[in-house]
Amino acid sequence: MNDPLLRPEPLPEDADRALRPQTLEEFVGQAEARANLRIFIESAKKRGQAMDHTLFHGPPGLGKTTLAQIMARELGVGFRMTSGPVLARPGDLAAILTNLEPRDVLFIDEIHRLSPVVEEVLYPALEDFALDLVIGEGPAARTVRIDLPQFTLVGATTRMGLLTTPLRDRFGIPTRLNFYTESELDLIVTRGARMMGIASDPEGTREIARRARGTPRVAGRLLRRVVDFVLVEGDGRLTRAIADMALTRLGVDHLGLDAGDRRYLRLLAENYGGGPVGVETISAALSEARDSIEEVTEPYLLQQGLIQRTPRGRMLAQKAWTHLGLDAPRGQAD
Ligand code: ADP
Repeated sequence: MNDPLLRPEPLPEDADRALRPQTLEEFVGQAEARANLRIFIESAKKRGQAMDHTLFHGPPGLGKTTLAQIMARELGVGFRMTSGPVLARPGDLAAILTNLEPRDVLFIDEIHRLSPVVEEVLYPALEDFALDLVIGEGPAARTVRIDLPQFTLVGATTRMGLLTTPLRDRFGIPTRLNFYTESELDLIVTRGARMMGIASDPEGTREIARRARGTPRVAGRLLRRVVDFVLVEGDGRLTRAIADMALTRLGVDHLGLDAGDRRYLRLLAENYGGGPVGVETISAALSEARDSIEEVTEPYLLQQGLIQRTPRGRMLAQKAWTHLGLDAPRGQAD
């Protein structure tokens, strides 16, 4: 996954907001999460109170930020956005909290990367809508409690396992987002093409959906690249043939894997006889950060049934051997 095109993390060009759904109605997929959110939003509105704190977890690019923005819009409140690594000191968070309007949505991306001292500030804020400030130093130090407006924290994380238990327990509504089905992605791509003013064949949008790693962000990005080919080398219509040609030229194979994914699979196949191999070893051999392997590369390979996670490490599944066009060693793979 070192091809930036296929990385589900945001790129500057994604700032193009035109394709972002604005309402729960427009948001495709995640039926269960959407149905629940609709109830919680309506209930909060009826009570005239801030909605419960909500945690979205799942791989990057699945719509966590989008859903948080939609929540604020549907609740009719303000939206403030920050992220775990940006909040370096307790004062950074205190400044944001004291500036919130009643019932606002505060979105903290990568909330698993909050530093422990900042997290401490968050606990009373979440539980009692209060900020405990320490004034002075040493024996003269005392704590002053400041009341905050009621607000809704929406946290997003790609690594639920890295969240501390006390933080996790403070979210009333934990919501897992899953990879999208091909049909859901097809709807997203079709809508995107229409918004870009491009005529498309159903097989054309389907081809992009099939190769988008189950991820709307990747689907949007592949669509933009395919449209470049449609405009420059095609006749203005998004057909299956041009989508296939463009995606193949971009190194995206039929399962949506890029050169980095294939390198991962080939490493396991050719250097380790299909595994098991520890993630540290894979990270060193590919010169890629372990986090990125675990958060970005592996979830999709696992979901596709190309690899398995065992207590002794990662193993190639039969489907991966077939995909690579290699024979599994006898007794290996299922
Ligand atoms: P995350 O916060 O999980 O990394 P984002 O909310 O930033 O993901 O979504 C990534 C991109 O995918 C955005 O451009 C957004 O418009 C698009 N997107 C996400 N979910 C959907 C969806 N359900 N329908 C249409 N577009 C979506």
